Amino acid sequence: MRTVEAGEPSGTMPFAGDATPPAPSSREERWAALRQRAMACTNCPLHRGRTNVVFGEGACPARLVFVGEGPGADEDRTGRPFVGKAGQLLDKIIAAMGFKREEVYIANVVKCRPPENRTPLPDEAAACWPFLEEQLALLEPSAIVALGSPAAKTLLKTTSGITQLRGRWQLYRGIRVMPTYHPAFVLRQYTQEIRGQVWSDMQQVMKFLKESK
Ligand code: SF4
Repeated sequence: MRTVEAGEPSGTMPFAGDATPPAPSSREERWAALRQRAMACTNCPLHRGRTNVVFGEGACPARLVFVGEGPGADEDRTGRPFVGKAGQLLDKIIAAMGFKREEVYIANVVKCRPPENRTPLPDEAAACWPFLEEQLALLEPSAIVALGSPAAKTLLKTTSGITQLRGRWQLYRGIRVMPTYHPAFVLRQYTQEIRGQVWSDMQQVMKFLKESK
């Protein structure tokens, strides 16, 4: 009978003969694998015009997640979400809510810039949805703020516009979602009424997060 020599491998080599690598298990591993997939993604035509894939930015896990529409010129150039004028307003909103930007997570419905900053097409949003879906599963937020109609429609699978939805809690897989106006819309409209409505929506989010600690 053949005996196993010292130093000679014994037993079955892990994954021997299996071409499929083991699935990542920890949150960090799954997040890194997801990011890598997004960075190489060509699942919709938006990849053709991008400079950078804008994966998202912030804490993971995160109690509070903001979901916007898609990268603009500044975001496409830097690879970071919400860094232009709308991003500066979002930073102010986050700070007024008592958070640091790095304590929340900021993502978009699509990760590549739509041409001329147009709204993402339904097919583009659908192609990118698995990335956001998995991000939200890993982020495990207590609350999500949907910034503007495309974000609200994508998360809530509704055809209602942001004017009908804003200011009232909705649910995404048991997670509270507060739809509100996109900061770019607030900047365009810059009326007391719109600013007041956004702040009132964020106050509801703050109240909920405080009470659910
Ligand atoms: Fe892929 Fe999303 Fe970029 Fe389309 S927008 S190419 S689905 S990462």
